[in-house]
Amino acid sequence: MQEIKSLNLDELTQAIKDLGEPAFRAKQLYEWMHKKLVGSYDDIGNIPKSLKVKLNDNFEYTALKMVTVQESKIDDTKKFLFALKDGNVIESVWMKYKFGYSVCISSQVGCRMGCKFCASTLDGLERNLTPAEMLDQIYSMSRITGERVSHVVVMGSGEPLDNYDNIIKFIELLTDKNGLNLSQRNLTVSTCGIVPNMKKLADRHLQINLAISLHASNNEKRKSLMPIANKYEIHEVIDACKYYFDTTGRQLTFEYSLVGGVNDKDEDADELAGLLHGLNCFVNLIPVNPIKERDFSPSDRARVISFKNKLEKRGINVTIRREMGRDIDGACGQLRRRHITEGKE
Ligand code: SAH
Repeated sequence: MQEIKSLNLDELTQAIKDLGEPAFRAKQLYEWMHKKLVGSYDDIGNIPKSLKVKLNDNFEYTALKMVTVQESKIDDTKKFLFALKDGNVIESVWMKYKFGYSVCISSQVGCRMGCKFCASTLDGLERNLTPAEMLDQIYSMSRITGERVSHVVVMGSGEPLDNYDNIIKFIELLTDKNGLNLSQRNLTVSTCGIVPNMKKLADRHLQINLAISLHASNNEKRKSLMPIANKYEIHEVIDACKYYFDTTGRQLTFEYSLVGGVNDKDEDADELAGLLHGLNCFVNLIPVNPIKERDFSPSDRARVISFKNKLEKRGINVTIRREMGRDIDGACGQLRRRHITEGKE
C-alpha cells in the first residue's frame, strides 16, 4: 500500500479527488501530517470519519515505533532505535546545540558501501528507506521530545545518494512551506562520493549543504578504507565537488575520520591541503569511533591537534567535530548492530 506521507501536496490532492472527496481536504490532511505531526489518522481533528476510513483502506500511515532510547549523560544527546512496519530497525539521533535541536537520520536499512570503519555496513544493505520513513524519524523525535527541530543531517546509517529518488522526495517534503518548512540551508546530506548523483543533485540547484566523507588524501589510501574509491577516483570526487559549488554556490564540508597510524600523519595533512587547494570548503575532523568488529583506533588528541594545525597553516578551514553521545554507541550503526546481534544470541 502506498504511504500517504510520501506524497507531496499535488499528489495528495489528486489522491483525495480520486477518492471522490473535495480537494480542500488534501491541504488539511497535509497540515495534520507534516506540520502538526500527528501519529495516526485517529489523531486528525477536522476530517470526517468516513474519509478516515477511506484513507485507511487505501493509504498506509507511516508512524515509526520507538524500540529504545538511550540518553547521554555527557551532552543530552539521545539515540533512538525505531522499528519499521516490516520489523527492521533503524537509528536516529537527537542533539542539542546552542542554536536549537539538530537530528541525524538514517537513509537506508544497512548500507552496501562497505567503509571499513563503519558499523552500518557490516551486514550489507537490507533496503532503502522511503521518504515517509525518513521524515517520520524527524516527526517521531519531535513528537516524543515535544521540541521543534531546526537542523537535519542525513548522516545516519545508509548512503543517501544510493537512494537518490527517495532522498530528493524527502528533501522536497521536509522543506515544503506547507509542511515543516525546514530551510534548505539547515539540511545537510552526507555522501561517500557517488559522483554521478552528486552532479545530478547539483543540477537541482538546491540550497542544501553537501558533506563528503573523504577520509583520505589520495586514492590508494582511500581505497583501503572505502571500497567506493574503486569505482570513483578521488579526483573525480573533487571535480564533482567543484561542480557542486559552481552550480549551487554552497560551501562544501569534507568529513575526515582520523584513524590512528593510517591517515593521520602530518604528511597526510599536507597532501590533503594540496588536494583541497582552491576549493571553497571546510574540513571536519573526527577521531574514528572504534567498533568492536574492526581494529581501527582513533588518533590521540595531540595527533588530532597537529593535523588540524598543519591544515590551518595551509589555509584550510578546519574544525574538530564535537563527538556527541560517545557513551551511547554514538557512531553510525552501532546501536542497531547491537540490537540485532544481541537479539540473535
Ligand atoms: N553514507 C554517508 C552518510 C552516513 S555515514 C557518508 O558516507 O557520508 C556518516 C559519517 O560518519 C561519514 O562521514 C562516515 O564515514 C562516518 N563514520 C562512519 N562510521 C564511523 C566511525 N566508526 N567513526 C567515525 N566516523 C564514522
